Amino acid sequence: MFSISEEHNDIVIRYRRDSSFNETMAMVLAQIHLQRQVKGSNGSTATDAMQKESLVRHLPRGIALLRDPAFNKSTAFSEEERKTLGLSGLLPPRVHTIEEQVQRVLGNLAKKSTDMERYVFLNGLQDRNSTLFYRVLQENIEQLMPIIYTPTVGQACLEYGHIFRRPRGVYISIHDKGHVAELLANWPMKDIRVIVVTDGERILGLGDLGADGMGIPVGKLALYTVCAGIHPNMSLPVTLDVGTDNTRLLNDPLYIGLQSPRVRGEVYDELVDEFVWAVQKVYPGALIQFEDFANRNAFRFLQKYRDAVCCFNDDIQGTASVAVAGFFSALRNIGGKLSDHRFLFLGAGEAGLGTGNLLVEAMQEEGLTEAEAREHCWYFDSTGLVVQSRDDLNEEKRRFAHAHPFVDSFKTAVEMLRPRAIVGVSGQPQQFSREVLEAMAQVNEQPIVFALSNPTSKSECTAEEAYMWTGGRALFASGSPFAPVQVRGETRYPMQGNNVYIFPGVGMGVLACGAKRISDRMFLVAAKAVAAAVSAEDLRQGRLYPPVPKVREVSLDVAVAVAKEAYASDLASCPQPDDLRQYIGELMYQPVYRSYV
Ligand code: NAD
Repeated sequence: MFSISEEHNDIVIRYRRDSSFNETMAMVLAQIHLQRQVKGSNGSTATDAMQKESLVRHLPRGIALLRDPAFNKSTAFSEEERKTLGLSGLLPPRVHTIEEQVQRVLGNLAKKSTDMERYVFLNGLQDRNSTLFYRVLQENIEQLMPIIYTPTVGQACLEYGHIFRRPRGVYISIHDKGHVAELLANWPMKDIRVIVVTDGERILGLGDLGADGMGIPVGKLALYTVCAGIHPNMSLPVTLDVGTDNTRLLNDPLYIGLQSPRVRGEVYDELVDEFVWAVQKVYPGALIQFEDFANRNAFRFLQKYRDAVCCFNDDIQGTASVAVAGFFSALRNIGGKLSDHRFLFLGAGEAGLGTGNLLVEAMQEEGLTEAEAREHCWYFDSTGLVVQSRDDLNEEKRRFAHAHPFVDSFKTAVEMLRPRAIVGVSGQPQQFSREVLEAMAQVNEQPIVFALSNPTSKSECTAEEAYMWTGGRALFASGSPFAPVQVRGETRYPMQGNNVYIFPGVGMGVLACGAKRISDRMFLVAAKAVAAAVSAEDLRQGRLYPPVPKVREVSLDVAVAVAKEAYASDLASCPQPDDLRQYIGELMYQPVYRSYV
């Protein structure tokens, strides 16, 4: 199928171009070949090879090198590099190690008085020196994840136009219709494998932030790199700017997007469609992650594109996977199977229905029919219990509507249905009242209570309330972080059901095997991998998810599980390596400086 040889210092790969073997595959093979050559002599990895490959083509010199965040090492350029690359005199004489530079960054961060200032500072670092940015994040992931992502990124999006320094990513406005491929091709990196795209209409729990929502794709892609080692040069944040209905932004002279009402309907759909197909042309096979689209569009686009291109929706499928991972962990305490239990969701939107659909998939694997599995999932939305007699249900909700009397009190629903789990995904605070939690404790030895709404102020209950009103017996997880709680002399560590356990690993798994499509089963195996990474000691301490500093290891587990699933279901397009774990481990980007001489 292919041959590799070396001719005059070049690696030559001869192959027949077809759907399963393309230039990307050839590049990967070349990288592995290079890596095999150099490994052992100096311990380099596949990423070294990748870096060397791009170096030959792109390395700038002089001041341009210092200004290029992909290659800049700042004071860490060696004396030899300074002489060879035209840097003499452009840097202060002292050569620093990356460890010293990390210390400097941490010192500066500590001096900032707010998380927003830390966010702006880290953004500046990302613009100056990508390697150092990722090194700092990787070594301090637990402390810094809340800065580069939620909750700080929410505030950053609210102020995006005001804190704007340098653009990052591709902005495609409704006026660019007909030229989307050209815009995508303007991005300087050519080997893009992961794209996160938003239209800014439902940014976190903050609503329509238009083009200011770009902070979300930027932050998510940083997490792809930090958590799963996807090379930063292989990812691209995109914002589709179709206007905004946010009056504050429409009147803000510093807003960065189009100051016109949101375009909807056919014209909007055409832009999204042009984008999806332009990606296939400019970056064939790149994974598209739909992010923070409004509910009605999120489900529609997932339905429309999931079998056509390599894509997923994190708000629907990523959330589902992390929630189901939490259920699997809880079962390790309770025993039994998912299909032994009933789940009642408060909220029937992207997160709630996505989770129900994945539960149905999981229960079918346990032997239930689809109809039987749906009987285990119940919903309570802003109107009340989702039942067959209601005539206001959309298609997604109707699939979970059961033959049952209508009830408009959540507490009554809990008493009647006696669920094992209540899952808060309503965006409405304090819905899990003392009465609701006491009712759960009455019918369950260990009730599962997931209060997933964000931010903290929207949480359906606090960790303390969940433990307090269930006699300390709740198996609790939340969307936003809560501090440890003392329960009868023992410390419980409530964990965040954070999508970050899932999407970076899924992305890496997809990239590693060249998956053509992303299936629900991939999210199911991802959930199992996350639950399996929770130790017995974690469970004893009330943790339903692995500790955050383990997220890179967990992402590797997820990536391996996802790639295996892709091979098993014939969705992979790359030849299967002998040792999948080792192969993916070697693909993971490490933020270390390479020698340029
Ligand atoms: P969505 O807008 O798609 O859905 C919200 C749902 O809540 C709707 O069905 C709505 O009818 C329902 N609702 C509103 N008020 C209600 C009330 N008073 N009682 C019952 N139901 C009510 O939003 P979404 O994407 O599903 O997100 C919902 C929440 O989940 C958000 O707060 C979000 O931050 C959170 N979330 C958390 C995670 C996570 O922790 N990993 C992931 C995704 C979303």
